[in-house]
This record gives sequence, C-alpha cells and structure tokens, in this order.
Amino acid sequence: MKPPAPQRYTANHGCYGRENRATAAFRSDGLTDSLAGVMSSQPRDAPRVGGGPVRIDVERVLADIAELAAYREPDEPGSTRRVFRDAHRSGRVWLAARMAEVGLEVETDGAGNLIGTRTGRGAPGAVVTGSHTDTVRGGGRYDGVLGVLGGLEAARALSAAGIELEHDLQVVDFLGEEPNDWGLSCVGSRAVTGGLARADLERTDAHGRTLARALADFGRDPETALTGRWPLPHAFVELHIEQGPVLELAGRAIGVVTGIVGVHRVLVEFAGRRDHAGTMPMDQRHDAACAAAELMLAVEALAQGGGGVGTTGRVEVEPGAMNVVPDRARVWMELRSIDPAWVSERRDAALAAAAAAASRRGVGLSVDVLSDEPPTPMDPQVRGAIDAAARAAGYDPLELASGAEHDTRQIARIARSGLIFVPSLDGRSHCAEEWTDPADLAAGIGVLAATIVGLDRLPPPSPGAVR
Ligand SMILES: [Zn+2]
Repeated sequence: MKPPAPQRYTANHGCYGRENRATAAFRSDGLTDSLAGVMSSQPRDAPRVGGGPVRIDVERVLADIAELAAYREPDEPGSTRRVFRDAHRSGRVWLAARMAEVGLEVETDGAGNLIGTRTGRGAPGAVVTGSHTDTVRGGGRYDGVLGVLGGLEAARALSAAGIELEHDLQVVDFLGEEPNDWGLSCVGSRAVTGGLARADLERTDAHGRTLARALADFGRDPETALTGRWPLPHAFVELHIEQGPVLELAGRAIGVVTGIVGVHRVLVEFAGRRDHAGTMPMDQRHDAACAAAELMLAVEALAQGGGGVGTTGRVEVEPGAMNVVPDRARVWMELRSIDPAWVSERRDAALAAAAAAASRRGVGLSVDVLSDEPPTPMDPQVRGAIDAAARAAGYDPLELASGAEHDTRQIARIARSGLIFVPSLDGRSHCAEEWTDPADLAAGIGVLAATIVGLDRLPPPSPGAVR
C-alpha cells in the first residue's frame, strides 16, 4: 500500500541521516538571539535554553494519521471523508478525544470548527494553526489531515518540552474545506471571517437539502454560523502538503508559500449554425465547436512558460451528434496566477483569440465572467517566521505560490497568515496514492512548532494590517 520512500531528498535533509530522522529535535526558543540553533544536528545535543528541545515524534503522528484514516466511507475509494457524512462526523469524535488526551481544551465554535486550545500566559489573541479533516471523494490521507494532526503534534511536543507560550495556541479542524454538495468550499473558515452569506446557507444539494439544514443536522445553528466571527487571532499558520511536484522536483523538504493564487473563471459561449454534416460544404459552415477548439489551444499556448496556469476543463457541444455541424459550444476557462497582471493579460489575449476565431468562422461569441478571486499574499512576518524556523533547522526552504485553495485564504482576512508546504510524492493529491515521506512530515511539523514559537514572540498585529 505504502510506496517506497523516495530517496532523492536525502542529501537535502543534511542535518540528519535516515536512521535518526524519525525524531527531529527543534529548539523552539532563542529565536530572537540566535536562530541558528533552533534545531540541533543531533537530537540528543539539542541545546536547552528555557524550555529545552522540541522533539517531533513522527511515529506518533503516523499512528494518529492511520487511526483517523480508519474513519472512511466504506463504499467510496481512498480515504473518503466528505463533510457532514458519518465518517467525517465520527472521525471528529475521535479527533476531539485525541485533542483532550493531549491536554487541549476542546470546543466546537458556532460554525462547526473543532478547536483545541492550549492555554498561554494570557497575551491577547491566539496563535492559531489548523487545516481540515474532510476530504474530496476518493481523497488521500494527508490533504488537510497533516495540518490538523501536525498541529496537534506541535502542541504535544511544545508541552513535552515544557515550553509555555504568551498566547493561547489553538489547533483547528476547519469545517468543510473541500468543495461540497452545495458548491461551497471553506465553509468553516469563511464563516469565522464574516465571509459566509445567508444566500450560501440557502444553497441546495442535488436532493434539495439546504446547507443550513445540513449544518443543523450536524448539530450547528446556521444563524450562529452567520454571526460567529472569531476574535482577531495574534497570527495564523497552516501546514499542508504541496499537492504538486515543485518541492519534490527541487529536492526541498520545506516550502514557504508566498501567496495563494488568484483564480479567474470565465464561461465563453460560441453560437454557430446547425447544418447537415454530410451536405454542408466545409467552406460554408459556422462550426461553434471548432471555434471552441481554437480557444482551448490558445489558452494552453498562452499559459506556457511559467507564471501561472490555464485550463479549459469543461466543454459542452450541442447538439452532440456525429452527423450534425455543432451550433453551440461552451468553454469554461480558468486562469490562475499569483500575479494579477499575468491573469488579466492572458485573459485578454485568450478572449481576443476567441473573438478572432468566431469572426473568421461567422460564429457569435458571448463571455460571462463567473468569478474573479484576487491573489492572497501571505504575511511577510509569518513568512519570515517560517523561513527562519526552517533555516535554523538546517533546511533550505523554497518559496512558491499555492495553486490550490486553503483555509488560509479565508483566515488571511482577519489575521496575518502563512502557509508551510511539504512535498507530495509525484505531486499527487486528491487521490488514494497521496503520500509524503515521514522525514518530510517530521520536517514540516518541526518547522510548524518552531514557527508557532516565532509567531508567539511577534508584537501585536497593527490594526488594519489584514484585508
Ligand atoms: Zn487541503
């Protein structure tokens, strides 16, 4: 079941050989005076300043991941645990118990986020970390789960090392991060940042059940979900698998995310003329599908060269018969980049290509912008804390943008926020093959723990510093 560990990172993990990588030691203090000493090359020699070394026990984390993975939908592939369904619900009961065992105070907020709190010395605002335990259908064991169970391990390791924080530390399992039957992602993190609208609650699934009803059946009051904004956190950081191949190809264990890409979605519709496919000569046709094909290839060509990605993942052609020249074609075009100018330039060029194809073919064209989410830059202070934690631990972190959505996008509205990536084997995710080397799990959780300590020491956020 478990694929062999890729060997190619070994050289980049420099500070420990494979034989002792299972337990990584992170010195979690001294960040202000000497970042160079946060992690020792030899765990047993980890310097003790204040609370002493923080040891990440990756075997314990793997055991937790395996226990949670047992809560899966039996008739679905992979590690399926879709939001609100029985496996998701019972997995959370397990998680709440595990949080309590670790000594966290467990609560579920009005929006259905499961929160474990480790009490600090009373400084205002919590240092928050977390991710999600729901999955897509056929998903894997690590997407989201790492950020929750890794956060739990970080809290456990800080406590074991006797390290007190000025702020409360909260480990959160956000409700429903993945796109769900109601076409809405990040339900819990949207709600606590004021991003959930009443219209969202009135969305219905294929059976006509509203999201409000689903929340109520899950034991949450939909009205509270609308109004339950969180008090402003001190800072937020999420640990997540990359879900792409960039870190693996670069041979790096730690990614510092620069920002979450902007996503621009457009529906382009071509209106041609329906004719007999046997009798209408080629030079007399107004073929909507061929115009659509030109747009699809234009998007692919325009998105080459890095800087962003472009996809036309959905196409519909009417009437969809072999013996009829198509009179209607719809192309759903999506562009993603961390650079808004990249997106707008490619969009304009793609639509110009569509217009040229339509005009040459005598086909009508209409364009409908479906959504335009701007990029979300990660906070420089949080990025700095992650980078410092990684470098002090002997890693050479890679800066990269996140092409995927995360709860961090939502939380960045109310808190300075950052995102740590660890590699995904072959860049695979949202599938049963999803896998991350235990050494990289240990690296990511160790960097998370040291980042939490770094964030704890930041001065209070300046008002208006977030969106
Ligand atoms: Zn995720």
